[in-house]
Amino acid sequence: PADEPKETAVQLTGDLGRYQGVWVFIEQREGEIAPVSLELLGVGRQLADKLGVELAGVLLGDSVCGLQDGLYEYGADKVYLVDHPVLRYYRTETYMQVFVKLVQVYLPEIILMGATTTGRDLAGAMATDLATGLTADCTALDIDTKQRLLLATRPAFGGNIMATIVCKNHRPQMATVRPKVMKMSKPVPGRQGQLVTPQVDLNEKDLLTRVVEIVKEHGEQVNLQDAEIIVAGGRGLGDREGFQRICFGLAEAIGAKVGASRAAVEAGWIEQKYQVGQTGVTVAPKIYFALGISGAIQHLVGIRGSDIIIAVNTDPEAPIFKECTYGIVGDVFKVVPALMEPLKEL
Ligand code: FAD
Repeated sequence: PADEPKETAVQLTGDLGRYQGVWVFIEQREGEIAPVSLELLGVGRQLADKLGVELAGVLLGDSVCGLQDGLYEYGADKVYLVDHPVLRYYRTETYMQVFVKLVQVYLPEIILMGATTTGRDLAGAMATDLATGLTADCTALDIDTKQRLLLATRPAFGGNIMATIVCKNHRPQMATVRPKVMKMSKPVPGRQGQLVTPQVDLNEKDLLTRVVEIVKEHGEQVNLQDAEIIVAGGRGLGDREGFQRICFGLAEAIGAKVGASRAAVEAGWIEQKYQVGQTGVTVAPKIYFALGISGAIQHLVGIRGSDIIIAVNTDPEAPIFKECTYGIVGDVFKVVPALMEPLKEL
């Protein structure tokens, strides 16, 4: 409410005080922006507002000029664009060189990146080069406005505690966030921003790495992160045959994707790319079925963004029942066929 006193961010003095603004690395491949970058603009906007500073996107690539308009609509006040043929494909060497230079010139206080293969690589390399702190795989971000500190929360000690980590004496404060952890904010059509195009000195012949060939992955692409419905199975499905019959059977009947707990993956019933949780993917479907999954914290951190969780488990004390929207205490081999029966008539 407007009449509530608003806590405003203090101004830091000295060296740390020179760093201002929140930056989001805009990850793109062949001109297509990774959704996690837009999700980060949403949370970045909130952090920037709390600090009373600008939110900027950092867009690196080749022939990517034009993408900035969409970024303003998702909340960026400014976009730093470096458009150069050498930046066509992601390379740690080139991206780090350019990004670190931008940081040294423009001094942002916070940098956010997606915890994707690229983001993890770039963030780690940059934090080392800039001799600053990086909190990886965050599940929540906030600001201590009094001290202008980024409060970066992530699971620690095997997921047994949630730790809030701060980077007190160095800037910028860096964090990576997994896709789908933050909700994308609604774009504001026509929202305008400022484009900054710093000139960088890049020459292919000075580089140590070359892109020789791009090999696209063949075979089935598993994209659980964008799935609307997921049917996930755990150790309770007994064996590979049980897993296949129950999980794939239900998933096929309702047009869902299949996921798995680590126990099911380790048993060799399904490949690792289907694993959901702390060391698998984070998902946010409309409906998540947890079949024969106990609900260990390492699994739960990957499914908390789901709108509805439906759990089937024989053990009424299973932790999953504390997290789910609907819980069915029962044997999956009886409950799932019973759920599928009416579907056959549709
Ligand atoms: P269990 O815990 O063995 O649960 C099986 C459940 O099935 C039980 O609750 C049982 O009551 C029920 N059941 C048995 N028979 C039936 C039946 N017929 N019908 C219905 N229910 C039945 N786990 C992940 O999933 N993802 C991760 O990313 C992940 N990362 C990890 C990272 C670290 C560092 C560590 C230490 C662990 C990680 N784990 C992860 C493992 C996690 O701690 C659990 O061991 C794992 O999630 C358990 O899988 P589960 O629920 O399938 O098996």
